[in-house]
Amino acid sequence: MAKYTDADCRLCRREGCKLFLKGDRCISPKCAMEKRPVVPGQHGLGRKKVTEYGLQLREKQKVKRAYGLLEKQFRGYYEKATRMKGVVGENMLSLLERRLDNVVYRLGIGDSRSESRQIVNHGHILVNGKTVNIPSYLVKVGDEIEIKDSSKSLSKFAQLREMKIVVPKWLDFNASKMIGKITALPKRDDIDLNIQEHMIVELYSR
Ligand code: SF4
Repeated sequence: MAKYTDADCRLCRREGCKLFLKGDRCISPKCAMEKRPVVPGQHGLGRKKVTEYGLQLREKQKVKRAYGLLEKQFRGYYEKATRMKGVVGENMLSLLERRLDNVVYRLGIGDSRSESRQIVNHGHILVNGKTVNIPSYLVKVGDEIEIKDSSKSLSKFAQLREMKIVVPKWLDFNASKMIGKITALPKRDDIDLNIQEHMIVELYSR
């Protein structure tokens, strides 16, 4: 499968906002958006005029990159959202939030979505008691997300017991047991992404 291999921070600089792709580094002074918040490349400082299409494209790229998806996968969420009741853009964001790798990230188990994807890929996560190693698995209300017993002693996970983790209100996390629960489906207000999703819908509707 195709994979993005360039530096993550270039993506934030290209989109002109923090996409929080590198865990703790993103909230430190080392963040590239703190040190050099300009578009990468030799013409980075010179780009000015952006068309409507360009703005729509940037909004789409922002979300796609924040969730670490390739175009085909991302388009798939849009197509699925159009077949659901409600507002297409909000449906799309809700579907993206329900991905298992994102839930592992939101629960604080992984520092970033890419690390969370690796945690899922490596089989450390159980959903309702069964190992699920598919990052795109869509969680539903009532699902329990748990760190596998044999992985709980790994230092990466053991430290969760000491941490004060704040999770979005559609999730619940019991740090001592290392179990998270999906208490509701994510709504637009629950998703802390500063984007205009209607522009993505307009782009794909062209
Ligand atoms: Fe983006 Fe994080 Fe890099 Fe900052 S440190 S530019 S938020 S990936």
